[in-house]
Amino acid sequence: MSNIVAIVGRPNVGKSTLFNRFLERREAIVDATAGVTRDRHYGKSDWNGVEFTVIDTGGYEVNTEDVFQEEITKQVELAVDEATSIIFMLNVEEGLTDTDQEIYELLRRSNKPVYIVVNKADSAKEELAATEFYQLGIEKYYTMSSATGSGTGELLDDIVKDFPTTEYKDPFEGLPKITIAGRPNVGKSTLTNALLDAERNIVTDVAGTTRDSIQTLYNKFGYEFVLVDTAGMRRKAKVKEDLEFYSVMRSIRSIEYSDVVIIMVDATLGWESQDMNIFGLAQKNRKGIVIVVNKWDLVEKETNTTRDFEARIKEKIGQFTDIPILFVSALTKQRILKTVEVAMEVYQNRAKKIKTSKLNEIMLPIFEKTPPPALKGKYVKIKYCVQLPTPSPQFVFFCNLPQYVKEAYKRFAENQLRKEFGFTGVPIEVYFRQK
Ligand code: GDP
Ligand code: GDP
Repeated sequence: MSNIVAIVGRPNVGKSTLFNRFLERREAIVDATAGVTRDRHYGKSDWNGVEFTVIDTGGYEVNTEDVFQEEITKQVELAVDEATSIIFMLNVEEGLTDTDQEIYELLRRSNKPVYIVVNKADSAKEELAATEFYQLGIEKYYTMSSATGSGTGELLDDIVKDFPTTEYKDPFEGLPKITIAGRPNVGKSTLTNALLDAERNIVTDVAGTTRDSIQTLYNKFGYEFVLVDTAGMRRKAKVKEDLEFYSVMRSIRSIEYSDVVIIMVDATLGWESQDMNIFGLAQKNRKGIVIVVNKWDLVEKETNTTRDFEARIKEKIGQFTDIPILFVSALTKQRILKTVEVAMEVYQNRAKKIKTSKLNEIMLPIFEKTPPPALKGKYVKIKYCVQLPTPSPQFVFFCNLPQYVKEAYKRFAENQLRKEFGFTGVPIEVYFRQK
């Protein structure tokens, strides 16, 4: 399970600057994949080989004056709930403010490690000014210039050192993990309950690591699988759910923990930006995806209603459209079984390993017939391919001139893999490397 580092603090202290710095490092060093859209608020980073998830809580700010204070408080509370570690960022230019004091009060009461960072300490002058923050009653702070990156190393050393070391023991190891994600009120609980009532289930609170993570073992419809849910449904009363921030924050952990994400959409509302965020999270984490359009019972149907709805979703989700889309009613239980069936198919697709001999036998003639277009008189020759032993499908194509293989051809290779081997619902990575 991934460690989550949340950056909290007032607007303009420099949260997103630090966030982007964390992500850039990662992208420059590890993530060679081009064309992956980057979420502004959420991403993966690593320090000395230790991977973590970073969240910029400020990315979700609601900028209306009157809700402002309340918003910050809620974001901090949620960050405290969901994160492994919290970076509390202060701005030396503005000095200590009342809001800072209030935020710190909330953080102090949590039992999560809090790292206090005094930002915009660009020179020695600010280093001295930073001592003002001892007024918070703290022992230690880190000075930093997130604009230049100075000070980030010491901070990351300490954060990573403090990550919990206890290995998480999965009580359902080896079983497919599925999560139902979606905006508030789309019908997630209704679907969960519809799945529940036909058979007794075991609800396991996995104590310790994930305070509120619930895994429910299902053994039905001839399938054995685990439904993963975080605190979401239970915390309903506590926070207002109509903010994007909450649904995304909550989704993160269950998505990371799952193999397949059922993205539930409200048929009466259509595909909106929040759905896109959840989709982006699932895709970035290379999870299997099934899109389920719920409340289909409420839709006036004509000849092409389903087809048109599907086309509109595919138009909006970008390039990765090889995804099953189902039209269901959790309330009337229409196509519930189908949903499980398709999710399990996607699970199988994601776990699929193509034998190297088979892969080469099929793919090399395709590349032979349709090679990458010649560039500056040079011809790319693809010689050999393998699937990597990763949890989700990743392929490496060895060739003489990988730098000449453009995005369009990578997409062609991906589409051929999909066509030949069937990876519906699963993000695929394709790499071209020097042989
Ligand atoms: P957020 O609202 O907390 O996410 O803050 P931003 O990251 O958007 O930064 C707010 C402003 O402060 C931007 O104009 C940044 O360029 C600037 N800023 C961020 N970090 C630093 C820093 O270390 N030094 C200086 N001088 N400016 C910074
Ligand atoms: P959640 O917030 O995503 O867990 O959504 P709920 O499961 O609590 O459902 C929100 C509301 O939508 C409830 O009033 C449900 O009865 C209703 N609902 C859920 N699924 C359906 C459906 O398939 N058809 C109709 N008509 N209503 C539904």
